[in-house]
Amino acid sequence: MAVTDTKTFTAPKVKQTKILINGEWRDSVSGKTFPTINPVTEEVIAEVAEGDKADIDLAVKAARNAFENGPWATMDARDRGQLLHRLADLVEENFDELSALETLDNGKPISDSRAADLPLVIDCLRYYAGWADKIHGQTIPVRGNYFTYTKREPTGVCGQIIPWNFPLLMVAWKWGPALATGCTIVMKPAEQTPLTCLRLGELVIEAGFPEGVINIVPGYGPTAGDALVRHPGVDKIAFTGDSNTAKIIMSAASQTLKRLTFELGGKSPNVVFADADLDAAIAGAEFGLFFNQGQCCCAGSRLFVEESVHEQFVEKLVQQASSRKLGDPFLAETTQGPQVDKAQYDKILSYIEKGKQGGAACLTGGEPLEGKGYFIEPTVFANVTDDMEIATDEIFGPVLSVLSFKDMDEVIRRANDTNFGLAAAVWTKDVNKAHIFASAVRAGTVWVNCYDVFDAAAPFGGFKQSGMGRELGEAALANYTDLKTVTMNLG
Ligand code: ADP
Repeated sequence: MAVTDTKTFTAPKVKQTKILINGEWRDSVSGKTFPTINPVTEEVIAEVAEGDKADIDLAVKAARNAFENGPWATMDARDRGQLLHRLADLVEENFDELSALETLDNGKPISDSRAADLPLVIDCLRYYAGWADKIHGQTIPVRGNYFTYTKREPTGVCGQIIPWNFPLLMVAWKWGPALATGCTIVMKPAEQTPLTCLRLGELVIEAGFPEGVINIVPGYGPTAGDALVRHPGVDKIAFTGDSNTAKIIMSAASQTLKRLTFELGGKSPNVVFADADLDAAIAGAEFGLFFNQGQCCCAGSRLFVEESVHEQFVEKLVQQASSRKLGDPFLAETTQGPQVDKAQYDKILSYIEKGKQGGAACLTGGEPLEGKGYFIEPTVFANVTDDMEIATDEIFGPVLSVLSFKDMDEVIRRANDTNFGLAAAVWTKDVNKAHIFASAVRAGTVWVNCYDVFDAAAPFGGFKQSGMGRELGEAALANYTDLKTVTMNLG
């Protein structure tokens, strides 16, 4: 879809704030609501129905019934694919509204919502629409007079818990493979950003998905989220968020031995060798960290620059970072909006303080903007050492830590010296160096001379404590299917 960014963009009307269960919009059982806040004005955008244990229970029952008895259970795989295509069509038809709603609730620049989030959502839904009728098993030559074959069957009712940094895109990453394989869904969007998921719920009904296939319960993590994780009627939990939350979820899910997939945090190394195209690497370093206000699980937050070019590199990088346009996300020229909420804003500012106190050199930024809104200046720290908290902890904000290195062995050792392993990047013109680094770094995704290049067909997920299982690509289908082996006696 062509993006005409010369347009004026405005906040859309909020159309849906209720809970979706079995194809019906309802208030919460408790009658409670919670506010979703505009991160620019700090005012309430809307009150949203607050789901809790009782609502989760109803949603799980609806999802189980749809999985076992409804038309979904017997629908031809190709027809499931058609429904996914229809949903993608409706997202395209409502592109302006959905992108503006995402910007309103999350604070991300409208240019990003329109150029990145929405196109990736549409592409992901269409990619998995294509998979629906291509999921199959094998025939296996076994000993004896038997015929043995395998089938991939849908795992069942999937609880899906997502964060606020890419609200609609995280929905697409979760729904695509679940629907392609024939699972049913209870989705809990993040409490900070429920609005686009709820609007998508309206499009689910319009697309003609059978009732109960997709249920949406907005609410808080320790209440609605926890009830979903513990519910015995749920077969699998797919979670994207903080590594510490994943530990809580893993423990809570152990009682019912649910299948778990996790896409978690990172402290991704972005490594620049002296022989790289330095201008491209500077642009990649800036984009790799500051895109989405630094709120990316794969943000290149540890920037390693080879010693011989460190000084000139940092000088240009600082110029580029400080020229980012911070402000109203509805202006087409804005490149950085506010952080999503007060809690994140406070956390990021406390890390900036730790960086300053710890002796790192704050070369640009380092302050919040005066006035309303959770705006923080793009911040670059140099003279960072590996043991500083700004080099070890996931800050999830516009704070870049620059470290210097001397050679390949050293940078590989330091890049891997972390419990995270989500992503990494390397910038060099030497193809050998690129391969040596890509092979040695312990990360689920490695970008060479690029950063944050995503595609619905390319698997994404973490090594080590950055995740379990993979999202996107064919790999994600394995997370939503169980393998059945059938052996027939031919004797
Ligand atoms: P963040 O710190 O980035 O908000 P979280 O991991 O806390 O990341 O949140 C990601 C998602 O996990 C949100 O939808 C949140 O409501 C949910 N969540 C938080 N705590 C729990 C929990 N104990 N059980 C289930 N879900 C949770």
